[in-house]
Amino acid sequence: MTQLDTEASRTRLSSQAIDLRSDTVTVPDERMRSAMAQAVVGDDVYGEDATVNQLQAEAAELMGFEAGLFMPSGTMTNQVAIAVHTQRGQEVIVPEGAHVYEWELGMMATFSGVVPRFVPAPAGVPAPESVRAGVRRSIHQSPTGLIVLENTHNKAGGTVVPLEVIHGVREVANSEGIPLHLDGARVMNAAVALGVPLAEITRPFDSVSLCLSKGLGAPVGSVLVGSREFIGRAHRYRKMMGGGMRQAGMLAAAGLLALREGPARLTHDHRRARELAQALVNAGFSVDLSSVQTNMVYATVPGAQARVDAWSAQGVKANALGPDTVRFVLHHQITDEMLTRAIAVLGA
Ligand SMILES: *Cc1c(COP(=O)(O)O)cnc(C)c1O
Repeated sequence: MTQLDTEASRTRLSSQAIDLRSDTVTVPDERMRSAMAQAVVGDDVYGEDATVNQLQAEAAELMGFEAGLFMPSGTMTNQVAIAVHTQRGQEVIVPEGAHVYEWELGMMATFSGVVPRFVPAPAGVPAPESVRAGVRRSIHQSPTGLIVLENTHNKAGGTVVPLEVIHGVREVANSEGIPLHLDGARVMNAAVALGVPLAEITRPFDSVSLCLSKGLGAPVGSVLVGSREFIGRAHRYRKMMGGGMRQAGMLAAAGLLALREGPARLTHDHRRARELAQALVNAGFSVDLSSVQTNMVYATVPGAQARVDAWSAQGVKANALGPDTVRFVLHHQITDEMLTRAIAVLGA
């Protein structure tokens, strides 16, 4: 590269916003785009897209299940799972702040006819006893049709649900005869944080929903995994929701790369999240450092929206999620150099 070229690319980089709003903002690089362009495709509604089939098989295998089903979003994989597991008029036990209710627009009620029963979840982690206390058995109450856990727990700060809690909740589900679903949008982050194989976290569940378009870096897509019988029934609800995508292999090709190569990058996102959290504390903001376990940082910032607007004008984007709450999310397109520049802006 000539001196001028180098300068031009540096200028481009430094004029680009440092986007810490979410790990959904990553864009596919040249390699991913080329894998998408070259994907072998077919009509997936007929089950004939080889790339989609490959992605579904790899995702199922990785999480310890028989089968998988590719869908456009995590909202769809979660809501299809709820539809398959429940009957109208039932309750679904969810941890406080659960994405399946808070950020999925009442779909469990409008599509499946079920209502949430929130159980306390300090730092995103419900105690198995709280889950048991949430179970409804009386003829005078709506019976519990499903228990959902979220790992990592988004609203609690990307916190990890420990294995012993998962096993405790599994025992409750067994003894009550209730299925157990994992909203595992970021379960790969949990596996990396715990240093265990993904299947160790996912196998205790009856179904798991995993996002490819968050930290793993695909532009679109989520996978739902479960038994062959469960996935067979899920097909129908996916179609009802408009998720039958035909030549979806072009998207699945990106998902395959994300699934194979994304996990190795997450450990850097987690390290950078801790660095950012410490820098925010040093700059005088309040951050619960014990909640910074994966790729997110929630900071207490008085006048959050105005601060976020001011930072954005200086090229650093974050999300104001409440009057005094700002969320920062690390992802693989934030380099160490960008983090340093972001910290300089946030600390000024
Ligand atoms: C992002 C996310 C989802 C799915 O969201 P989509 O935007 O529909 O893909 C589900 N659960 C959690 C915890 C999430 O963070």
